[in-house]
Amino acid sequence: MSNIIHRNLHHTPPRAVGAHGMLVRDSEGRTYIDASGGAAVSSLGHGHPDVLAAMHRQIDRVAYAHTAFFTTEPAEELAERLVARAPAGLNQVYFVSGGSEAMETALKLARQYCVETGEARRTLFIARRQSYHGNTLGALAVGGNEWRRRDFAPLLMAVPRVAPCYEYRDRGEGQSVEQYTVGLLRELETTILETGPERVIGFCAEPVVGATGGAIPPTPGYFAGVRALCDKYKILFIADEVMCGMGRTGTMFALEQDCVAPDIVAVAKGLAGGYQPIGAVIARGSLVDQLRRGSGSFQHGHTYVGHPVAAAAALAVQQVIERDGLLEAVTARGHTLRRMLGDMFGEHPHVGDIRGRGLMMAIELVDNRASKAPFAPERKLHAAIKNQAMARGLMVYPMGGTIDGLHGDHVLLAPPFIASSAD
Ligand code: PLP
Repeated sequence: MSNIIHRNLHHTPPRAVGAHGMLVRDSEGRTYIDASGGAAVSSLGHGHPDVLAAMHRQIDRVAYAHTAFFTTEPAEELAERLVARAPAGLNQVYFVSGGSEAMETALKLARQYCVETGEARRTLFIARRQSYHGNTLGALAVGGNEWRRRDFAPLLMAVPRVAPCYEYRDRGEGQSVEQYTVGLLRELETTILETGPERVIGFCAEPVVGATGGAIPPTPGYFAGVRALCDKYKILFIADEVMCGMGRTGTMFALEQDCVAPDIVAVAKGLAGGYQPIGAVIARGSLVDQLRRGSGSFQHGHTYVGHPVAAAAALAVQQVIERDGLLEAVTARGHTLRRMLGDMFGEHPHVGDIRGRGLMMAIELVDNRASKAPFAPERKLHAAIKNQAMARGLMVYPMGGTIDGLHGDHVLLAPPFIASSAD
């Protein structure tokens, strides 16, 4: 029995002892193709020499410096690079150690901005039913995954919720995509009005839904509509691009493809592609200016903010992505992956939908293709798929039965950007 609290308390997973490119090797000598980038983390695959060299260089120079005393070159350079590629006006960066921390930071920054603009009565976030924003208490509160929230519900802030943009399941028969989208936006507006716009801090959403439904992209115009409503009611739009950002969908930020700029965007996973734990919040400069003119500080902070080795790893990952033209590769390889999945599984009686953007693709599994009825959650199909795939040397990221037991199982494929058709 291991001394680690593993995810499954009855099972210790294989020990990873080596990883290179698309492959991970365990202590028994088995190899696994990493078709999910871990959990959509690994963008350059494993053991990239340029990233390792950058990390070594930084360890030799400054392995750690607390931000109460110093800033560091890699952190400053990484922030500059992110701002240069972010939507216009998003020019202030706060580094953290992962996705949940990034969302906590986004929520607190948004709240403090309201307080410092004399709007302290704004205390609520609106979010979507089908969403995952992390496992810490604030992020868990805005997330809509009931299964994850259940035991902790009494500890969580109240969050008014609206429907996700989930065309496969929710667009009515005979309803056009446009009508469906208008309906979603109408629901959001009604929720804002019922909550009282003057009480709302912001609206949180994943541009492409990840863990609670599998690579669900928005319908055309949905996020433009969200942006317009946020502007109309003066509420902040917080985009959670922890999974879909940093090139995963073929553009640096997924929302670029919807021609929409949020007020705050959270990124993590792909930022350093798994080489180091790091996330970031990129915020509209005008929000931070308000704090600068007001209290003069952001009431937040963690010991490992702006960790120099993590920043150096992230900087190297982002430089390689740009140098090697990997954003374009993601788009092209995403098309190939979709085509191959369609060829292989398009007619499968238990495949309801194949969807995604770039190299963030998912297959939704259904018991009945015509009715879209999911498999019974007790069957734990997603767990069986993961175990069977691992037994065959393949890492995929299956999830299931998470939204009030309503939706079924899906398998997320998020291979590193270097994946070839042969992989
Ligand atoms: N937000 C989204 C969209 C995610 O997919 C995740 C993780 O899967 C998180 C937040 C939480 O990130 P982390 O696990 O790094 O805390």
